[in-house]
Amino acid sequence: MSDSETVGAMRLLWLIASGRAVTRLELATLLRQPQSSISVRVQALLAAGVLTEHGEGPSRGGRRPRLLAVNSGYGHVWAADVGSRHLRVGAMDLAGNLLCAWDRPLDIAAGPDAVLAELAAAVHRHAGDTELPGRWLGVGVGLPGPVDVAAGTVTLPSRMPGWRGFPARAALRRMFEQPVEVDNDANVLALGQARGGRPGETLVVVKAGTGVGAALVVDGRLHRGRAGVAGDISHVRIAAGGDRPCSCGNRGCLETVGSGAALVASLRARGIEVANTADVMSAAEDAHPTVTTAVRTAGLLLGEVLATVVNFANPDAVLLGGLLAGSEVYMAAVRGALYERCLPLATRELRIERVPAGADAGLIGAGTWALERVFDPVASAPSAASGRVVDITSRAAR
Ligand SMILES: [Zn+2]
Repeated sequence: MSDSETVGAMRLLWLIASGRAVTRLELATLLRQPQSSISVRVQALLAAGVLTEHGEGPSRGGRRPRLLAVNSGYGHVWAADVGSRHLRVGAMDLAGNLLCAWDRPLDIAAGPDAVLAELAAAVHRHAGDTELPGRWLGVGVGLPGPVDVAAGTVTLPSRMPGWRGFPARAALRRMFEQPVEVDNDANVLALGQARGGRPGETLVVVKAGTGVGAALVVDGRLHRGRAGVAGDISHVRIAAGGDRPCSCGNRGCLETVGSGAALVASLRARGIEVANTADVMSAAEDAHPTVTTAVRTAGLLLGEVLATVVNFANPDAVLLGGLLAGSEVYMAAVRGALYERCLPLATRELRIERVPAGADAGLIGAGTWALERVFDPVASAPSAASGRVVDITSRAAR
Protein backbone atom coordinates (compact mmCIF):
# COMPACT_ATOMS: atom_id res chain seq x y z
CA MET A 1 0.00 0.00 0.00
CA SER A 2 1.35 3.42 -0.91
CA ASP A 3 1.34 6.44 1.37
CA SER A 4 -1.51 7.98 -0.55
CA GLU A 5 -3.64 5.03 0.43
CA THR A 6 -2.65 4.90 4.09
CA VAL A 7 -2.85 8.63 4.85
CA GLY A 8 -5.37 10.45 2.72
CA ALA A 9 -4.89 14.17 2.16
CA MET A 10 -8.34 14.84 3.61
CA ARG A 11 -7.48 13.00 6.78
CA LEU A 12 -4.59 15.42 7.29
CA LEU A 13 -6.79 18.37 6.40
CA TRP A 14 -9.58 17.40 8.84
CA LEU A 15 -7.09 16.91 11.68
CA ILE A 16 -5.42 20.26 10.99
CA ALA A 17 -8.72 22.11 10.47
CA SER A 18 -10.12 20.79 13.76
CA GLY A 19 -6.94 21.83 15.59
CA ARG A 20 -6.29 18.29 16.79
CA ALA A 21 -2.91 18.14 15.07
CA VAL A 22 -1.21 21.25 13.70
CA THR A 23 2.42 20.18 13.33
CA ARG A 24 4.02 17.39 11.31
CA LEU A 25 5.01 15.64 14.53
CA GLU A 26 1.47 15.78 15.93
CA LEU A 27 0.06 14.40 12.67
CA ALA A 28 2.61 11.58 12.63
CA THR A 29 1.89 10.71 16.26
CA LEU A 30 -1.89 10.75 15.89
CA LEU A 31 -1.85 8.76 12.65
CA ARG A 32 0.93 6.43 13.78
CA GLN A 33 2.92 7.14 10.61
CA PRO A 34 6.62 7.93 10.18
CA GLN A 35 7.20 11.67 10.32
CA SER A 36 9.11 11.48 7.04
CA SER A 37 6.08 10.27 5.07
CA ILE A 38 3.82 12.83 6.75
CA SER A 39 6.34 15.54 5.84
CA VAL A 40 6.24 14.52 2.17
CA ARG A 41 2.43 14.74 2.09
CA VAL A 42 2.41 18.05 3.95
CA GLN A 43 5.04 19.53 1.63
CA ALA A 44 2.98 18.57 -1.42
CA LEU A 45 -0.15 20.16 0.07
CA LEU A 46 1.80 23.32 0.97
CA ALA A 47 3.18 23.55 -2.57
CA ALA A 48 -0.33 23.15 -3.97
CA GLY A 49 -1.63 25.96 -1.73
CA VAL A 50 -4.04 23.67 0.13
CA LEU A 51 -2.14 24.13 3.42
CA THR A 52 -0.35 27.20 4.76
CA GLU A 53 2.25 27.66 7.49
CA HIS A 54 1.92 30.35 10.11
CA GLY A 55 4.14 30.93 13.13
CA GLU A 56 5.92 28.40 15.26
CA GLY A 57 4.86 26.16 18.09
CA PRO A 58 6.78 25.44 21.30
CA SER A 59 10.00 23.48 20.90
CA ARG A 60 10.22 19.94 22.20
CA GLY A 61 13.98 20.01 22.42
CA GLY A 62 14.86 20.69 18.80
CA ARG A 63 13.79 23.26 16.23
CA ARG A 64 10.47 24.97 16.93
CA PRO A 65 7.82 23.30 14.72
CA ARG A 66 5.99 25.32 12.05
CA LEU A 67 2.23 25.47 12.64
CA LEU A 68 0.00 24.25 9.82
CA ALA A 69 -3.39 25.60 8.76
CA VAL A 70 -5.87 24.70 6.05
CA ASN A 71 -6.15 27.40 3.38
CA SER A 72 -9.94 27.69 3.46
CA GLY A 73 -9.70 30.23 0.65
CA TYR A 74 -8.39 27.55 -1.70
CA GLY A 75 -11.81 26.45 -2.87
CA HIS A 76 -15.27 25.18 -2.05
CA VAL A 77 -17.69 22.39 -2.94
CA TRP A 78 -21.46 22.43 -3.27
CA ALA A 79 -23.42 19.78 -1.42
CA ALA A 80 -27.00 18.57 -1.70
CA ASP A 81 -29.03 16.51 0.74
CA VAL A 82 -31.98 15.04 -1.12
CA GLY A 83 -34.79 13.70 1.06
CA SER A 84 -38.11 12.16 0.15
CA ARG A 85 -39.86 15.48 0.65
CA HIS A 86 -37.15 18.11 0.84
CA LEU A 87 -33.98 19.37 -0.75
CA ARG A 88 -31.21 21.14 1.13
CA VAL A 89 -28.25 22.64 -0.72
CA GLY A 90 -25.22 24.46 0.59
CA ALA A 91 -21.56 25.28 0.06
CA MET A 92 -18.63 24.08 2.18
CA ASP A 93 -15.04 25.26 2.32
CA LEU A 94 -11.90 23.17 2.38
CA ALA A 95 -11.76 23.23 6.19
CA GLY A 96 -15.21 21.63 6.33
CA ASN A 97 -17.13 24.75 7.33
CA LEU A 98 -20.63 25.03 5.93
CA LEU A 99 -20.77 28.52 4.39
CA CYS A 100 -24.46 28.76 3.49
CA ALA A 101 -27.50 26.52 3.14
CA TRP A 102 -31.01 26.67 1.74
CA ASP A 103 -34.06 24.40 1.94
CA ARG A 104 -36.89 23.82 -0.44
CA PRO A 105 -39.71 21.30 -0.67
CA LEU A 106 -39.30 18.49 -3.15
CA ASP A 107 -41.08 15.28 -4.10
CA ILE A 108 -38.67 12.44 -4.83
CA ALA A 109 -41.53 10.64 -6.61
CA ALA A 110 -41.43 13.32 -9.33
CA GLY A 111 -38.65 11.19 -10.82
CA PRO A 112 -34.94 11.71 -11.45
CA ASP A 113 -35.14 14.16 -14.37
CA ALA A 114 -37.33 16.64 -12.49
CA VAL A 115 -35.57 16.23 -9.13
CA LEU A 116 -32.01 16.55 -10.44
CA ALA A 117 -32.94 19.51 -12.66
CA GLU A 118 -34.42 21.19 -9.57
CA LEU A 119 -31.24 20.40 -7.60
CA ALA A 120 -28.97 21.82 -10.30
CA ALA A 121 -31.13 24.92 -10.69
CA ALA A 122 -31.07 25.55 -6.93
CA VAL A 123 -27.27 25.27 -6.77
CA HIS A 124 -26.70 27.41 -9.87
CA ARG A 125 -29.08 30.07 -8.57
CA HIS A 126 -27.34 30.30 -5.19
CA ALA A 127 -23.84 29.96 -6.68
CA GLY A 128 -24.63 32.96 -8.85
CA ASP A 129 -25.39 35.32 -5.99
CA THR A 130 -23.13 34.04 -3.19
CA GLU A 131 -19.55 35.14 -2.56
CA LEU A 132 -17.54 31.95 -2.03
CA PRO A 133 -13.81 31.33 -1.45
CA GLY A 134 -11.52 30.11 -4.22
CA ARG A 135 -12.53 27.85 -7.03
CA TRP A 136 -15.51 25.53 -7.32
CA LEU A 137 -14.04 22.05 -6.83
CA GLY A 138 -17.01 19.75 -7.18
CA VAL A 139 -20.46 18.65 -6.01
CA GLY A 140 -21.48 15.96 -3.52
CA VAL A 141 -25.02 14.59 -3.36
CA GLY A 142 -26.76 12.29 -0.84
CA LEU A 143 -29.81 10.42 -2.20
CA PRO A 144 -32.49 8.67 -0.10
CA GLY A 145 -31.98 5.22 -1.62
CA PRO A 146 -29.27 2.66 -2.37
CA VAL A 147 -26.54 3.90 -4.72
CA ASP A 148 -23.91 1.99 -6.68
CA VAL A 149 -21.12 4.44 -5.93
CA ALA A 150 -18.65 3.06 -8.48
CA ALA A 151 -21.21 3.40 -11.30
CA GLY A 152 -22.94 6.49 -9.90
CA THR A 153 -26.37 4.91 -10.36
CA VAL A 154 -29.37 4.45 -8.10
CA THR A 155 -30.05 0.76 -7.48
CA LEU A 156 -33.33 -0.83 -6.40
CA PRO A 157 -34.81 2.13 -4.51
CA SER A 158 -37.97 1.31 -2.58
CA ARG A 159 -39.68 4.69 -2.37
CA MET A 160 -38.25 6.40 -5.46
CA PRO A 161 -40.46 5.55 -8.45
CA GLY A 162 -38.64 5.98 -11.76
CA TRP A 163 -35.15 6.03 -10.21
CA ARG A 164 -34.22 2.37 -10.57
CA GLY A 165 -30.88 2.12 -12.41
CA PHE A 166 -30.85 5.87 -13.13
CA PRO A 167 -27.33 7.24 -13.85
CA ALA A 168 -27.63 10.13 -11.39
CA ARG A 169 -23.92 11.01 -11.31
CA ALA A 170 -23.58 11.20 -15.10
CA ALA A 171 -26.73 13.34 -15.38
CA LEU A 172 -25.46 15.75 -12.70
CA ARG A 173 -21.99 15.96 -14.25
CA ARG A 174 -23.60 17.12 -17.49
CA MET A 175 -25.64 19.74 -15.61
CA PHE A 176 -22.72 21.08 -13.55
CA GLU A 177 -19.70 20.44 -15.80
CA GLN A 178 -17.90 19.73 -12.50
CA PRO A 179 -16.79 16.56 -10.70
CA VAL A 180 -19.91 15.15 -9.04
CA GLU A 181 -20.20 12.28 -6.55
CA VAL A 182 -23.40 10.65 -5.37
CA ASP A 183 -24.03 8.26 -2.51
CA ASN A 184 -26.77 6.99 -0.24
CA ASP A 185 -27.89 9.44 2.47
CA ALA A 186 -26.88 7.20 5.39
CA ASN A 187 -23.41 6.77 3.88
CA VAL A 188 -22.80 10.49 3.41
CA LEU A 189 -24.08 11.11 6.94
CA ALA A 190 -21.49 8.60 8.16
CA LEU A 191 -18.69 10.15 6.07
CA GLY A 192 -19.42 13.52 7.66
CA GLN A 193 -19.30 12.00 11.15
CA ALA A 194 -16.16 10.00 10.43
CA ARG A 195 -13.96 12.84 9.18
CA GLY A 196 -11.07 13.46 11.46
CA GLY A 197 -12.33 10.69 13.72
CA ARG A 198 -9.96 9.06 16.13
CA PRO A 199 -7.83 6.34 14.53
CA GLY A 200 -9.39 2.98 15.26
CA GLU A 201 -12.86 4.40 15.92
CA THR A 202 -15.89 2.30 14.96
CA LEU A 203 -19.17 4.14 14.40
CA VAL A 204 -22.68 2.98 13.61
CA VAL A 205 -24.46 5.91 11.97
CA VAL A 206 -28.24 5.78 11.48
CA LYS A 207 -30.42 7.95 9.31
CA ALA A 208 -33.96 7.66 10.65
CA GLY A 209 -36.43 9.63 8.58
CA THR A 210 -39.07 8.64 6.06
CA GLY A 211 -36.88 5.57 5.54
CA VAL A 212 -34.38 4.00 7.92
CA GLY A 213 -30.78 3.39 6.88
CA ALA A 214 -27.48 2.87 8.61
CA ALA A 215 -23.79 2.86 7.81
CA LEU A 216 -20.72 1.40 9.48
CA VAL A 217 -17.43 3.26 9.88
CA VAL A 218 -14.42 1.13 10.82
CA ASP A 219 -11.10 2.78 11.65
CA GLY A 220 -12.36 6.10 10.32
CA ARG A 221 -13.37 4.60 6.99
CA LEU A 222 -16.82 3.86 5.64
CA HIS A 223 -17.32 0.11 5.21
CA ARG A 224 -19.46 -0.26 2.08
CA GLY A 225 -19.35 -4.04 1.68
CA ARG A 226 -19.06 -6.04 -1.51
CA ALA A 227 -22.24 -4.76 -3.19
CA GLY A 228 -22.34 -1.41 -1.40
CA VAL A 229 -25.32 -2.25 0.82
CA ALA A 230 -23.44 -2.71 4.12
CA GLY A 231 -25.38 -1.17 6.99
CA ASP A 232 -28.79 -1.37 5.34
CA ILE A 233 -30.80 -2.38 8.39
CA SER A 234 -34.17 -1.30 7.00
CA HIS A 235 -34.80 -4.75 5.54
CA VAL A 236 -34.01 -6.77 8.63
CA ARG A 237 -37.08 -8.86 9.44
CA ILE A 238 -38.51 -8.31 12.91
CA ALA A 239 -41.35 -9.98 14.81
CA ALA A 240 -43.40 -6.77 15.03
CA GLY A 241 -43.37 -6.56 11.22
CA GLY A 242 -45.52 -9.70 11.04
CA ASP A 243 -46.67 -10.39 7.50
CA ARG A 244 -46.62 -6.81 6.25
CA PRO A 245 -45.38 -6.69 2.67
CA CYS A 246 -42.26 -4.56 2.24
CA SER A 247 -41.19 -2.54 -0.79
CA CYS A 248 -38.18 -4.87 -1.10
CA GLY A 249 -40.41 -7.87 -1.82
CA ASN A 250 -39.97 -9.53 1.57
CA ARG A 251 -42.32 -9.30 4.52
CA GLY A 252 -42.07 -7.90 8.03
CA CYS A 253 -38.97 -5.71 7.52
CA LEU A 254 -38.08 -2.97 10.04
CA GLU A 255 -39.09 -0.46 7.37
CA THR A 256 -42.72 -1.69 7.42
CA VAL A 257 -43.17 -0.70 11.09
CA GLY A 258 -40.20 1.43 12.20
CA SER A 259 -39.78 4.06 9.46
CA GLY A 260 -41.30 7.52 9.21
CA ALA A 261 -43.32 6.29 6.22
CA ALA A 262 -44.70 3.39 8.31
CA LEU A 263 -45.58 5.78 11.15
CA VAL A 264 -47.49 8.04 8.75
CA ALA A 265 -49.41 5.09 7.30
CA SER A 266 -50.33 3.56 10.66
CA LEU A 267 -51.38 6.89 12.20
CA ARG A 268 -53.50 7.78 9.16
CA ALA A 269 -55.18 4.37 9.39
CA ARG A 270 -56.19 5.38 12.92
CA GLY A 271 -57.71 8.62 11.73
CA ILE A 272 -54.84 10.94 12.69
CA GLU A 273 -54.22 13.49 9.93
CA VAL A 274 -50.49 13.42 9.21
CA ALA A 275 -49.20 13.89 5.66
CA ASN A 276 -45.51 13.12 6.22
CA THR A 277 -42.79 12.39 8.76
CA ALA A 278 -42.43 16.09 9.63
CA ASP A 279 -46.14 16.18 10.61
CA VAL A 280 -45.60 13.15 12.85
CA MET A 281 -42.70 14.92 14.55
CA SER A 282 -44.74 18.09 15.14
CA ALA A 283 -47.58 16.07 16.68
CA ALA A 284 -45.07 14.24 18.89
CA GLU A 285 -43.62 17.59 19.96
CA ASP A 286 -47.14 18.67 20.94
CA ALA A 287 -47.27 15.50 23.08
CA HIS A 288 -50.17 13.98 21.12
CA PRO A 289 -50.55 10.75 23.14
CA THR A 290 -51.16 8.29 20.28
CA VAL A 291 -48.39 9.81 18.16
CA THR A 292 -45.95 9.85 21.07
CA THR A 293 -46.61 6.16 21.74
CA ALA A 294 -46.10 5.34 18.04
CA VAL A 295 -42.81 7.28 17.92
CA ARG A 296 -41.58 5.53 21.09
CA THR A 297 -42.47 2.14 19.57
CA ALA A 298 -40.54 3.02 16.39
CA GLY A 299 -37.50 3.82 18.57
CA LEU A 300 -37.80 0.51 20.42
CA LEU A 301 -37.98 -1.38 17.11
CA LEU A 302 -34.88 0.37 15.78
CA GLY A 303 -33.12 -0.39 19.07
CA GLU A 304 -34.08 -4.05 18.74
CA VAL A 305 -32.31 -4.28 15.36
CA LEU A 306 -29.39 -2.08 16.43
CA ALA A 307 -28.76 -4.26 19.49
CA THR A 308 -27.60 -7.05 17.18
CA VAL A 309 -25.36 -4.61 15.31
CA VAL A 310 -23.89 -3.25 18.55
CA ASN A 311 -23.22 -6.71 19.98
CA PHE A 312 -21.61 -7.73 16.70
CA ALA A 313 -19.52 -4.63 15.92
CA ASN A 314 -18.90 -3.30 19.47
CA PRO A 315 -18.75 0.32 18.21
CA ASP A 316 -17.50 3.41 20.04
CA ALA A 317 -20.70 5.23 19.20
CA VAL A 318 -24.16 4.92 17.70
CA LEU A 319 -24.98 8.26 16.09
CA LEU A 320 -28.49 9.06 14.90
CA GLY A 321 -29.59 11.62 12.33
CA GLY A 322 -32.76 12.26 10.37
CA LEU A 323 -36.13 13.67 11.42
CA LEU A 324 -37.00 10.92 13.91
CA ALA A 325 -33.73 11.45 15.79
CA GLY A 326 -34.94 14.98 16.55
CA SER A 327 -37.45 13.48 19.01
CA GLU A 328 -36.21 12.94 22.57
CA VAL A 329 -38.89 10.26 23.02
CA TYR A 330 -37.44 8.36 20.05
CA MET A 331 -33.83 8.75 21.23
CA ALA A 332 -34.75 7.59 24.74
CA ALA A 333 -36.50 4.52 23.32
CA VAL A 334 -33.45 3.61 21.18
CA ARG A 335 -31.14 4.02 24.19
CA GLY A 336 -33.45 1.99 26.41
CA ALA A 337 -33.65 -0.88 23.94
CA LEU A 338 -29.88 -0.92 23.47
CA TYR A 339 -29.12 -0.89 27.20
CA GLU A 340 -31.68 -3.60 27.78
CA ARG A 341 -30.67 -5.91 24.94
CA CYS A 342 -26.91 -5.53 24.48
CA LEU A 343 -24.10 -7.16 26.35
CA PRO A 344 -23.24 -4.85 29.27
CA LEU A 345 -19.64 -4.77 28.05
CA ALA A 346 -20.78 -3.54 24.63
CA THR A 347 -22.73 -0.59 26.07
CA ARG A 348 -20.52 0.30 29.05
CA GLU A 349 -18.62 2.97 27.11
CA LEU A 350 -20.98 3.25 24.15
CA ARG A 351 -22.02 6.77 23.14
CA ILE A 352 -25.61 6.91 21.84
CA GLU A 353 -26.09 10.41 20.48
CA ARG A 354 -27.81 12.55 17.95
CA VAL A 355 -25.45 13.71 15.15
CA PRO A 356 -24.18 17.10 16.31
CA ALA A 357 -24.91 19.12 13.17
CA GLY A 358 -28.62 18.23 13.12
CA ALA A 359 -30.28 19.30 9.86
CA ASP A 360 -26.88 20.20 8.37
CA ALA A 361 -25.31 16.80 8.99
CA GLY A 362 -26.39 15.40 5.62
CA LEU A 363 -25.04 18.44 3.76
CA ILE A 364 -21.73 18.32 5.61
CA GLY A 365 -21.49 14.62 4.77
CA ALA A 366 -22.20 15.18 1.07
CA GLY A 367 -19.62 17.98 0.96
CA THR A 368 -17.11 15.75 2.75
CA TRP A 369 -17.69 13.02 0.18
CA ALA A 370 -17.10 15.46 -2.70
CA LEU A 371 -13.85 16.74 -1.16
CA GLU A 372 -12.54 13.26 -0.43
CA ARG A 373 -13.14 12.21 -4.03
CA VAL A 374 -11.35 15.33 -5.33
CA PHE A 375 -8.30 15.06 -3.08
CA ASP A 376 -8.16 11.32 -2.31
CA PRO A 377 -9.41 9.52 -5.41
CA VAL A 378 -7.51 6.38 -4.46
CA ALA A 379 -8.16 6.21 -0.72
CA SER A 380 -11.85 7.04 -1.16
CA ALA A 381 -12.45 4.73 -4.14
CA PRO A 382 -15.58 2.65 -3.51
CA SER A 383 -13.79 -0.55 -4.50
CA ALA A 384 -10.18 -1.48 -5.07
CA ALA A 385 -10.87 -2.33 -8.70
CA SER A 386 -12.19 1.14 -9.50
CA GLY A 387 -9.35 3.03 -7.79
CA ARG A 388 -6.86 4.68 -10.09
CA VAL A 389 -3.45 5.80 -8.90
CA VAL A 390 -3.49 9.57 -9.22
CA ASP A 391 -0.78 11.88 -7.98
CA ILE A 392 -2.41 14.07 -5.35
CA THR A 393 0.05 16.94 -5.80
CA SER A 394 -0.66 17.46 -9.47
CA ARG A 395 -4.40 17.16 -8.88
CA ALA A 396 -4.46 19.64 -6.05
CA ALA A 397 -2.23 22.06 -7.97
CA ARG A 398 -4.26 21.85 -11.15
ZN1 LIG B 1 -37.88 -4.96 3.13
